[in-house]
Amino acid sequence: MRILVFGSLNLDHVYRVPCVVKVGETVPVTDYTVKLGGKGMNQATALSRAGLQLDFAGSVGEDGGRLREFLRGVGVDVTRLTTVPRPSGQAHIQVGPGGANAILLYAGANRTLTPERVEGTLADYGEGDLLVLQNEVNLLSEIIDRAYEKGMRIVLNSSPVTEELFSIDPAKLFLVFVNETEAAAFCRGEAAETVKARYRALYPDLNVVVTLGADGSLYFGPKGECRQAAYPAEAVDTTCAGDTFTGYFTEAFLRTGDPAYALARASAASAVAVSRVGAAETIPAAEEIRSEK
Ligand code: ATP
Repeated sequence: MRILVFGSLNLDHVYRVPCVVKVGETVPVTDYTVKLGGKGMNQATALSRAGLQLDFAGSVGEDGGRLREFLRGVGVDVTRLTTVPRPSGQAHIQVGPGGANAILLYAGANRTLTPERVEGTLADYGEGDLLVLQNEVNLLSEIIDRAYEKGMRIVLNSSPVTEELFSIDPAKLFLVFVNETEAAAFCRGEAAETVKARYRALYPDLNVVVTLGADGSLYFGPKGECRQAAYPAEAVDTTCAGDTFTGYFTEAFLRTGDPAYALARASAASAVAVSRVGAAETIPAAEEIRSEK
């Protein structure tokens, strides 16, 4: 089985400021750092650190050298990471007193996919291979449709929520991750239990994981239902919690087929991630996670 993450990469420019800037104002920056992120990059890092071999497909600009080098450094195959004539995706994050923030997000290279590139990238994969996605690149539905036709198993972290997500046929997915906000969006005002019962009836083969921040996580799908409390952690930065969870759950679920074990392992890994400041760099290695299997 081959594994492909098709997704986004971002340079996160973080500015510490005495107050978040208002219209017409100029505010001095007291500290400035560039962190590496983007949900595709974070997921690839988590899967690799959890112990899987994988390929990454996506786009960066001429400014994307650090992103490429980081992924290569964690052992990911970056042959399908293309340099395009557009700046890499970037977030400009002002962090004010007490952590108050304001974020400008520029998708840049992440939204330059063409149907030809999708087709060319997926040409190397087939029946039973795993495709891991999030909603930060363009042509998401096309990628899913094409991969499904080829018999790939598709994992989707449904973040961020946009209208495009509602056009995806859940029957084409193998495993889907939603956080509390995304779950509420999918419920569209209906009770969560009603939506869950409908999903289980309509999509009996779909594995669903709901993450609830410090309140833990739950699974429902063909392997039944189970719930996991969050591991105790001194949370200082939850930026990468969901992506760490996606990577570690996916690895453990593929290896054992046991959702309760996979929830526990992913919760342990995310608890380590939230206790560190940063994005992709903070995702722990498998050796740092206590495991019973
Ligand atoms: P993001 O989009 O910021 O990456 P998310 O909203 O998708 O994250 P969450 O539901 O916030 O994901 O968190 C994922 C998992 O991380 C939780 O199910 C839990 O196991 C773990 N986690 C999150 N916050 C904490 C915390 N404060 N303490 C311990 N574990 C946490």
